[in-house]
Amino acid sequence: MNKGLEIRLYPSKEQRVLIDKTLGCSRFVYNQVLALKKELWEDYKISFNPNLKSFKEEWPFLTKVPSQALANSYMDCMTAYNNWFNSIKKKTKQETKFPKFHKKGQKNSFRIAATKTSKGYDIRIEDYEHIKVPKLGLIRFRNYNYIDWSKVHIYNITIKKTLSNKYFASICCELVEPEYIKPKFDACGFDLGLKDFAIFDSGEIIKNPKYYRNTEYRIKKTQRQLSKCKKFSKNYKKVQLKLAKLHEKIKNQRKDFQHKTSRQIVNENQVIVSEDLNVKGMLKNHKLAKSIQDASFGSFCNMINYKANDQRRQYVRIGTFYPSSKLCHCCGFKYKGLKLEERFWTCPECGTYLDRDENAAINILNEGLRILNRNTVGSTGNDKSLKPVDTVYNSALEQEPVITSSYTACHAGKSPIFSG
Ligand SMILES: [Zn+2]
Repeated sequence: MNKGLEIRLYPSKEQRVLIDKTLGCSRFVYNQVLALKKELWEDYKISFNPNLKSFKEEWPFLTKVPSQALANSYMDCMTAYNNWFNSIKKKTKQETKFPKFHKKGQKNSFRIAATKTSKGYDIRIEDYEHIKVPKLGLIRFRNYNYIDWSKVHIYNITIKKTLSNKYFASICCELVEPEYIKPKFDACGFDLGLKDFAIFDSGEIIKNPKYYRNTEYRIKKTQRQLSKCKKFSKNYKKVQLKLAKLHEKIKNQRKDFQHKTSRQIVNENQVIVSEDLNVKGMLKNHKLAKSIQDASFGSFCNMINYKANDQRRQYVRIGTFYPSSKLCHCCGFKYKGLKLEERFWTCPECGTYLDRDENAAINILNEGLRILNRNTVGSTGNDKSLKPVDTVYNSALEQEPVITSSYTACHAGKSPIFSG
């Protein structure tokens, strides 16, 4: 199983200098290649591929850093240029803009692929505290202590530096499959909200932590402080660093919360159903934008998706246009005039008193089970419940569904299936 892991690096002073140099040189190579190609295209309309070797002869300082990082940077520039070139030659339908030059602080990362040497691969975990990287040597790191590193094969490493001057590495590697955890429940459906982070069909609620709101006053204060400083003065840089750290803190808190929540949902349920949120479309509504960004549902759904894959769960996403809050989950009546501020309503058809969010979650669950059922009916094999479902394709078809009577019983999947 291939996976990307992020670890925090604690390079020594010499290593820091070399990493910083490599970051600079990678950016330099990218920009030089791009500048050359741009000039030759604009002046002579030719696509010229410069030679990286000649770069090293012209600028000897490039030989002091890991050559692979430069080669990858060179390739990245080529890919970006070719994407643009194919787009103007109408070879692809996608429209691509001419690649931008990399500015300092904007793209602070470089990538090195592992190669096999006589002593094994040149990027490897040496012990639980050190990772070996060509030219950089052993770098101290921390994270993922529960992984049996002896069985991990690393394909490549991306080293990056944050605005708060911290070093991280993403390692792409092959891991042994994680231990399978038996789910407690058949299925769960949930609705993502702004007031509460998630509302389940069982009525259970996960509160929105709203880290941003809580730290907002500190950020605003620091921003004001920054605006009063003389630009690029010593103090300016100090306050700028403080601001970067605050933003980073929120990001980490949010990530931590999302990882824990998604892990719990995946471990407890075999089938998970949620709405396929069109986050980009929602962000256009500025009033809601901050809260949505705060909760960042998109990354949360991605976490559920990959964790569900690891644990052989089924994750179904319902199309955005499915009117989950407008349907009565008991009789299927559609209340067209439901307003956003109506938190509760009574179904005129069957008289059920409905909690808006809980009703939506039940509808989402039922709809997900319906899609899943339709996809597994007629297939053979004993473990058909474990087969993946192409949910994205199906949810696109589920814009105005007809509710069938078989699913009008709510909490359809809430009985524990594994009694043990
Ligand atoms: Zn009803």
